[in-house]
Amino acid sequence: MPSRKFADGEVVRGRWPGSSLYYEVEILSHDSASQLYTVKYKDGTELELKEGDIKPLTSFRQKKSGSTSSSPSRRRGNRSRSRSRSRSPGRSPGRSPGRSPGRSPGRSPGRPPKSSRQPASASHHADIKEMRKEVLEVKLTPLVLKPFGNSISRHNGEPEHTEWNDIAHKAPQEKFHLSQESSYISAQYSLRPRGEENKLKEIEFKEEKIVTKGPASLRSMEVTATPAKDLEFGGVPGALLIMLGLPAFVFLLLLLCEQEEPSLLNFPPPLPALSDIWETRVFGVYLLWFFVQALFYLLPIGKVVEGTPLTDGRRLKYRLNGFRALLLTAAALGAALLCGAGADLLFVYRHFRQLALAALAFSAALSAYLYARARRAPPGELSPASSGNVIYDFFIGRELNPRVGVFDLKYFCELRPGLIGWVVINLVMLLAEMKFQNRATPSLAMILVNSFQLLYVVDALWNEEAVLTTMDITHDGFGFMLAFGDLVWVPFTYSLQAFYLVHHPNEVSWPVASLIIALKICGYIIFRCANAQKNAFRKNPTDPRLAHLKTIHTSTGKNLLVSGWWGFVRHPNYLGDLIMALAWSLPCGFNHILPYFYVIYFTVLLVHREARDERQCRRKYGVAWDRYCQRVPYRILPYVY
Ligand code: NDP
Repeated sequence: MPSRKFADGEVVRGRWPGSSLYYEVEILSHDSASQLYTVKYKDGTELELKEGDIKPLTSFRQKKSGSTSSSPSRRRGNRSRSRSRSRSPGRSPGRSPGRSPGRSPGRSPGRPPKSSRQPASASHHADIKEMRKEVLEVKLTPLVLKPFGNSISRHNGEPEHTEWNDIAHKAPQEKFHLSQESSYISAQYSLRPRGEENKLKEIEFKEEKIVTKGPASLRSMEVTATPAKDLEFGGVPGALLIMLGLPAFVFLLLLLCEQEEPSLLNFPPPLPALSDIWETRVFGVYLLWFFVQALFYLLPIGKVVEGTPLTDGRRLKYRLNGFRALLLTAAALGAALLCGAGADLLFVYRHFRQLALAALAFSAALSAYLYARARRAPPGELSPASSGNVIYDFFIGRELNPRVGVFDLKYFCELRPGLIGWVVINLVMLLAEMKFQNRATPSLAMILVNSFQLLYVVDALWNEEAVLTTMDITHDGFGFMLAFGDLVWVPFTYSLQAFYLVHHPNEVSWPVASLIIALKICGYIIFRCANAQKNAFRKNPTDPRLAHLKTIHTSTGKNLLVSGWWGFVRHPNYLGDLIMALAWSLPCGFNHILPYFYVIYFTVLLVHREARDERQCRRKYGVAWDRYCQRVPYRILPYVY
């Protein structure tokens, strides 16, 4: 086994990749397998270097006192001794890594920061000239392009934030050049933070391709991220199964809920006739509901905000008026009730199954439309989750932000027709309970379920802006998964507790109700505070109200909270959400598992979602995410999971 030349802790000089400049570094470790040393520069940057790129400090001193070697490293070493202390290769604000190889190499990644350059002198100019030549030679070396898509800017282990901005505002050819340059440099030197190399190998964007459009000009070259290899949700078979299974499951739940005795002995429930589940008039009512909500969405009221930056640096604009849409809907319903049209609202109860099928038919048609229009969408507008496979893309959605003019279809469907529809259905169930159980007032159980879920929807719409940073908006396309989820699954299965109570009354005493309310409040506080803390931190990381929180620095420039709610578990918001889910079910008693369907399903959903998010965060943050996981070992429930 070859022996190592430098010991851990030894202070030496390490060559800065892409240049022949040497800086003072400390040896941190040595990997005998790769024969690479992990070294730390004075600014904290950690890189892996080959032994040939490391020189003992003494060799520089000796050379200064008499050597006339023409070796570039020796000559530069002579000169650098007096100045290298102030020339850390760390990022300086004036340094742009997004320069193309064709540009002046003086500002390539191999170049030290401008601010630390020496005043010009004859020998200095000669050195610069030589260095330029060298760097040019380096850049002109043939290379195998291995772009990492979005990850290109994190190769050098330095803060990526400014690089992202640089990339976003540069011409397309510069984006391409950067990827070339980064790929080259990272192939020659391990420029990633220690350990990140292995993580990057796991990156799922393995099949990115270079798409050349138009004439053979570099200007029109784009790097696109298609297709991702490891498809989520069980890939194509999983997507097929979900698309066929979940709609059937919704109807099974509704049929079970209507049964007097929904037990295994009565399984399966009798299948309804087609006329019991489809009525064109009901479909018309559903369309009316959808388009009235669309009208509310288009009203020029409410703040307009920008979403997260897209891959090309653009930010889409979104109008925040979901809460107002809820108020308008409530005003319309209130007016209907005051005018004695409460009985008409029971239409929804009497045609519940037909409405569910109408919503399903609409979401399927919408998905087909979305897929068809996405065939013509430019590659840059496709969702990073899309794969190129027809079935999978129909499910996950091909286009990231499908819009008709200013009407954003995904954003609209996320929070409006389904979420507002859910609380309207709950209200209808409350009226139905009073009617069918001959009650003058709704039961306490029904009031608890209605108010808990109303609070949830009000909270979501009040904090509508938060949806813009969720993976639904930033990662997943708009296809069957979200269309069905938003328009069918949410309103027709989340209202199951209220639907159940219409047929299965449960008397809740005030002491029990108080405990359930306490549980709900506890869940809500965790959920709201955790979400608020992260949103505030993402909005303004220097917010003085968050100054007491500890953070972990990541190579993207974005930090991770490691104390406060996000130091308690890695998804405190999911924990709060699950506690609330339990509080929604408890008022229904313990006679049947049906009202607990939501808690069970939601646990599965959030465990799966957490795993998806974790994968994406590991891809984004590399070693920093691993450090976060070490510091905060539990994902959702402390000491359990
Ligand atoms: P989250 O709000 O949990 O956000 C996850 C993102 O937060 C990560 O991708 C990362 O993004 C950032 N992040 C993670 N850890 C940290 C940290 N330590 N410090 C700072 N930022 C961090 O995402 P979801 O969209 O899954 O959930 C949003 C809410 O919606 C949750 O409360 C959830 O319970 C709820 N929800 C409800 C559903 C329902 O049907 N009722 C369904 C799904 C979600 P980055 O670093 O890029 O900012």
